[in-house]
Amino acid sequence: MITILAGGTGSIKLVRGLAALTKDIIVISNVGDNIWLHGLYICPDVDTIVYGLAGLLDEKRGWGVKDDSFECLAQLEKLGAPTWFSLGDKDLATHLARTAMMNKGKSLSEVTEWMRRRYAISARIIPATDNEVATKIITDKGKMHLQEFWVKYKGNLAVTGVQYDGAKSAKANRKAIEAIRKSDMVIVAPANPVSSIGPIVALTELRKELAKNRDKVVAVSPLIGDVAVSGPAVKYMKALGLASSPVGVAEYYRDFVGSFVIAASDHKLTPKIQGLGMQVYETNITMKNKQDEIRLGQYLMDRAIDN
Ligand code: GDP
Repeated sequence: MITILAGGTGSIKLVRGLAALTKDIIVISNVGDNIWLHGLYICPDVDTIVYGLAGLLDEKRGWGVKDDSFECLAQLEKLGAPTWFSLGDKDLATHLARTAMMNKGKSLSEVTEWMRRRYAISARIIPATDNEVATKIITDKGKMHLQEFWVKYKGNLAVTGVQYDGAKSAKANRKAIEAIRKSDMVIVAPANPVSSIGPIVALTELRKELAKNRDKVVAVSPLIGDVAVSGPAVKYMKALGLASSPVGVAEYYRDFVGSFVIAASDHKLTPKIQGLGMQVYETNITMKNKQDEIRLGQYLMDRAIDN
């Protein structure tokens, strides 16, 4: 059994690659980017994983449903409602159904489990916690929700810090802890370390369980050289005083990750990462298509069998 800690757009590529190779995977999903809008509970990372595994994802954008329309959003604009966060008409069905179920007392994990069954997804998807955790970005315009920073302001503000509101008192999902304990390998997806993995490992019990199982935890670097394959990872890392390189990511993960996979082109960084007490693997970690996703998935699975 393989467990994978995942964010959204980068993570789904590896999740999909692994899901093509085995049914026995459990995805622990970030919830730090969840947001309430128009009275609806929106869970972008959970939904990217669900849509990706159901074959519904708009792969060009990396979020939302493919071939979606935006009629509702256009109407909301006419009504003067805030529309900085795009929500497609088909995507809205997810948020409507989820919010209605939650209003009747269902937890986010119960709703997610129901959804993956409706879509006949064999991988299990577990939100890291059923409590609300919100990733906040501290900027020169003040503290704001991650979505506001990234979507409303297009990431164009200076960042001085990142906080996970609610994480201290939030309880990690029991099933996520069990998955970590029982898996042969735990993978940290190539995801934004600060905004996708950070909120998951900010859950005290979950981080402890990972640290206990450090030898079987393997992370794939989201950075190649000193740049992120996509998104604002470097901006957040700099704000936390981390080096903008795979070494900075490895430092951030050092207490709970035992093996680190980097691009072969970053070979020169291997000794530094080994110096953090990690095993280092070098391979092609760029996923441009389905073949790349499966190749990297297979590489990680072979590694689990080796050990
Ligand atoms: P988010 O919710 O959009 O932040 O999604 P993730 O956190 O899952 O993914 C974003 C991160 O994944 C970024 O830091 C990217 O650099 C990284 N990423 C995206 N595509 C790839 C890829 O093909 N290979 C690797 N190694 N990293 C990737």
